Amino acid sequence: MSIIKQMDSKLANMIAAGEVVDRPASVIKELVENSIDANATIITIEVLDMGMQSIIVTDNGDGMDFTDAHLAFNRHATSKIKDESDLSHINTLGFRGEALAAISAVSKVTLRTRQENQEGIQVEYHGSHLISEGSATLNKGTVVEVKELFFNTPARFKYIKSDYAERAAIIDIFDRLALANPKIRFTLKMDDKTIKETYGTSDFYHLIDQIYGSKMTKDMTIFEETVQKIKIIGYLLSPQIARSRKKDISIFVNGRYIKNYRLIQAVIDGYHSYMMVGKYPIALIHMEMDPSLLDVNVHPQKYEVKFVNESMLSYHIETLIKEALNKKTHQIPEALNR
Ligand code: ADP
Ligand code: MG
Repeated sequence: MSIIKQMDSKLANMIAAGEVVDRPASVIKELVENSIDANATIITIEVLDMGMQSIIVTDNGDGMDFTDAHLAFNRHATSKIKDESDLSHINTLGFRGEALAAISAVSKVTLRTRQENQEGIQVEYHGSHLISEGSATLNKGTVVEVKELFFNTPARFKYIKSDYAERAAIIDIFDRLALANPKIRFTLKMDDKTIKETYGTSDFYHLIDQIYGSKMTKDMTIFEETVQKIKIIGYLLSPQIARSRKKDISIFVNGRYIKNYRLIQAVIDGYHSYMMVGKYPIALIHMEMDPSLLDVNVHPQKYEVKFVNESMLSYHIETLIKEALNKKTHQIPEALNR
């Protein structure tokens, strides 16, 4: 007797959801990335009770029409890629069409959206079920409200860490999203208090001070180089500001924050002679490259990417940092001599 049964889509969504959303911070990441892909210039994130009570992301982006507002909740439904050939040159943050399906499988979602010169729409899904739909009054853009995250997956609660850890994860993801998008104005509110905001002026001195604290950019070194058609820009905070964690080294590729241990190590090695053992710098490396040189389709959360030539990149990053920091220390005595 055969015993295999095809899962229904609700069960399949719930299982898949675990890969995309494992904690409140990953919901925030997915929603904000959607806002960025929708060309938003102002994005506000409001969180109640570390995201377990509610997460609201408001943007002034393109919005959706009625059909899309529903399709957005289907698994593997996306406006960002059309066929296989698009996979080799992805220039949006999303493309898997999984986030809203996953989030709505494990929470209660209300989506309100309005396109330019159109009526506003509201749809509500609880645990993948359509609960209500209708019109809504709002400005152009989209508001996604996620309530009672994991309400139907008690097992998941076990993985939620302390309030402190969830709060740190939310702030961490906010920082990377903001640092990756200097032209976007971001606000993070937690329990009705504004925790952090950026001004979207593209000024990295301002941006870094807003994220890491005022005057942090004092003595910052900046370099910009193009090697083999890859533009590498480094914002190197003074080695004097040493941290005991590696987490404040951020790598971005085409506006996407990524985790790549080899490139992080390259930054550490670049700073090597200026840092005490066990101390790490605050540094941002922004790279712009042809999307065909990397594969972002490695992991559902898309933190990991594969580069065509990782060792070449890591060599250049280390060398460029060494040169930039060296120049800086030479400049000061020379200037004094004159
Ligand atoms: P993906 O981002 O991979 O396409 P999602 O599930 O995150 O998948 O979103 C599905 C679709 O819903 C997107 O492709 C986009 O067309 C639409 N969408 C989601 N969020 C927004 C938003 N904030 N503004 C406009 N459209 C959105
Ligand atoms: Mg998305």
